[in-house]
Amino acid sequence: DVRVRFAPSPTGFLHLGGLRTALYNYIYAKKYGGSFILRMEDTDQSRLVPGAAESIEDMLEWAGIPPDESPRGGGQYGPYLQSQRLSLYSQAADSLVQTGKAYHCFCSQQRLELLKREALRSGQTPRYDNRCRHLRPDQLEEKLDQKVPHVIRFRLESGVEPFNDLVFGWNRHEVAQVEGDPVVLKADGFPTYHLANVVDDHLMKVSHVLRGSEWLISTSKHLLLYRALGWKPPVFGHLPLLLNRDGSKLSKRQGDIYIQSFQRSGALPEALLDITTHCGSGFNSNRVGRKMEELITEFNPSKITTHSALLDLDKLPEFNKIHLQQRIDDAVQRDWLVRDLQVRIQEVYGTQVQDQDVLQPDYITRVLHLRKGHISSVSDLVSSEYSYLWVRPSFSDQQMTALSSETQHIATLVIRLMEGLKGGEELTVDQLSVELKTLAKKTSNTKYRDVMKIIRLALSGLQQGPSVAEMMVSLGPSEITHRFNRVLQ
Ligand code: GLU
Repeated sequence: DVRVRFAPSPTGFLHLGGLRTALYNYIYAKKYGGSFILRMEDTDQSRLVPGAAESIEDMLEWAGIPPDESPRGGGQYGPYLQSQRLSLYSQAADSLVQTGKAYHCFCSQQRLELLKREALRSGQTPRYDNRCRHLRPDQLEEKLDQKVPHVIRFRLESGVEPFNDLVFGWNRHEVAQVEGDPVVLKADGFPTYHLANVVDDHLMKVSHVLRGSEWLISTSKHLLLYRALGWKPPVFGHLPLLLNRDGSKLSKRQGDIYIQSFQRSGALPEALLDITTHCGSGFNSNRVGRKMEELITEFNPSKITTHSALLDLDKLPEFNKIHLQQRIDDAVQRDWLVRDLQVRIQEVYGTQVQDQDVLQPDYITRVLHLRKGHISSVSDLVSSEYSYLWVRPSFSDQQMTALSSETQHIATLVIRLMEGLKGGEELTVDQLSVELKTLAKKTSNTKYRDVMKIIRLALSGLQQGPSVAEMMVSLGPSEITHRFNRVLQ
């Protein structure tokens, strides 16, 4: 059975890099009929960010890649929060100690600091000197009796632990030469990443580990742990780095790469998935605008290359526009957009919304259809350019007294036209364009263009924007009448 997992540390919110890792795992699971697991690696309690764990799960759901097993949803191999699995890690650590593959280390923080400083002074990479490996049984006994604080360290065997990475191919990394024996269980009883990760991948029956290439160098250490514990390791595949287009690191500190901020700015999940897969490899084709089923069909793990993927966020509006069009054309997906827009309108305009009718699904749906292909995100529709759709324009007293008699005349004509159209069928832009031409002929000394300008201004307070006919179709006869009546007063 294929079982893959996304194992973020809730030390921050989900960002594009994490979303991509989760996505490849999700696609892998779906392609091969397997399960996609979400596991929270929250063992570094000092770095936890409140709310991050819940938010990561929310964001995966929002993005359309919900886990099959997770902290919230549970599953057969739970709990899925490492902080709730502490006894499993200490059991594993104990069994390593019992078989002589791990040992108690009593070295004080000061001693470790000193070692580090000395190494740095002589230009070497700091590493633990494995001193406690060599404690005599009586020394060990004594320290344990005295309850000297201690950690458990894993005895790294020398030699290579070669493995064939799905993406990077054969890897031979001699860990023991580079590193001192790593801590697997900390003094407070919490495991380190390496132990918890290995124990959980084993107990959760993970078959394939697909994770960022920054973990490639840790894999040999993990394999040594699997061997020491007598467990069969999963298959490893490391995903190439995701970088900015200029090759710089996607900094987690840059607020705008967080999924939540994309969501807030109106990005659609499909567009985010597109932008992260489009720049990377692993697919038989590289079209824009793919739906999830297509991503799954076209996914081909043997096509994942080792080059870094360069993210081009400038393309996001273009991708979003394509997906927005697809959503507007799909009845179910459109409802989702309508609800999203209802919330945005209230957030931006709140009490200014003068007529609750603009919050009606029918009205919003009409607007979406009319603006499809012109806007790249729903948030465009709540920008000032489109405020006329939700809020009536306001005119100063000065503007009102300056109205010419010609404007009054045009207002009367528009109101009369609307009387004729009210209650009838849905207006269309074409039909209204014809009506407007006829109307303009009835104004003896104003040119068609100027008539349009006057109507546009009265309806929206704007000098430019969508065609007058379109504006009128979106607002509908009674609202138009209302707005022109105000001009007449
Ligand atoms: N907790 C690690 C992270 O935050 C997981 C790495 C892995 O997938 O093994 O990236």
